[in-house]
Amino acid sequence: MKRNTVMNRFTDKIAVVTGAASGIGHATAVRLAQEGATVACLDIDSDGLAKTRTAISDAGGTCTLIECDISNEKDVATSIQQVVEAHDRINVLCNVAGILRADHSHELSLENWERVLKINLTGTFLMCRAALPHLLKKKGNCIVNTSSTAALGSHPWMAAYAASKGGILALTRTLSIEYVKQGLRVNAVCPGGIATPLHAQFEMPQQADPELLKGAIPFVKYCGPEHAASTIAFLASDDARYMNGSYLRVDGGALS
Ligand code: NAD
Repeated sequence: MKRNTVMNRFTDKIAVVTGAASGIGHATAVRLAQEGATVACLDIDSDGLAKTRTAISDAGGTCTLIECDISNEKDVATSIQQVVEAHDRINVLCNVAGILRADHSHELSLENWERVLKINLTGTFLMCRAALPHLLKKKGNCIVNTSSTAALGSHPWMAAYAASKGGILALTRTLSIEYVKQGLRVNAVCPGGIATPLHAQFEMPQQADPELLKGAIPFVKYCGPEHAASTIAFLASDDARYMNGSYLRVDGGALS
């Protein structure tokens, strides 16, 4: 099997990755599989999921694909049930799925506000809630949530997105203390400027002043999703066993 020759941190682990059809989620699923995990790949995009399966099998790894809308309570419950029926347990949950849109806040419709919150924040909560009973069966399991540098400042026109990502950080801290004695770790990653379809499709609202965005742009070249994935893999691994309720920025130093 063509696995990472340096690390094999997820041998015998069952990992669930949302947003696995594209970008950071795809790269995370591949990375965990390369390091030995059996990965349940969840997404709404079945074509993207099929590409992830190919990438994982090319790397010699194992995965299952599950079409799941993380903002749909029933979908989430059924998907977690499917993972447990197939694999008997869940050791790692990586919540990566998310959407981004930018609007002048005074023009942001309630519909769009609610849509972003529903997918990014409620979706992350639903996944955590459904997986928790399984993650708590054994000490040493963990959750990695995907927040954003938008939760930390310097991101205009992203009221809903930033609020959803700030909510994810708060959710992460809450879970990290609530279940600490059962041996669960819950951490978050805050990417910024990662070259993915979400980033490429970003559009500033009409007549927005680009100067306002300067603080969010790194001085170095944008990096690919595998660099956010390697940080997620670190947080999900025993290498990060003393980290709980923390977040790591992966933003080329943009918010330094
Ligand atoms: P991406 O668009 O490449 O991937 C997002 C994936 O989420 C897609 O496969 C999409 O189908 C899936 N998805 C969307 N809604 C879903 C739903 N309701 N249920 C299930 N799956 C759904 O984007 P990406 O850049 O890889 O983003 C991944 C995560 O990283 C997101 O949470 C995003 O907010 C976060 N993030 C990205 C950046 C960046 O610079 N790319 C920066 C900060 C945070």
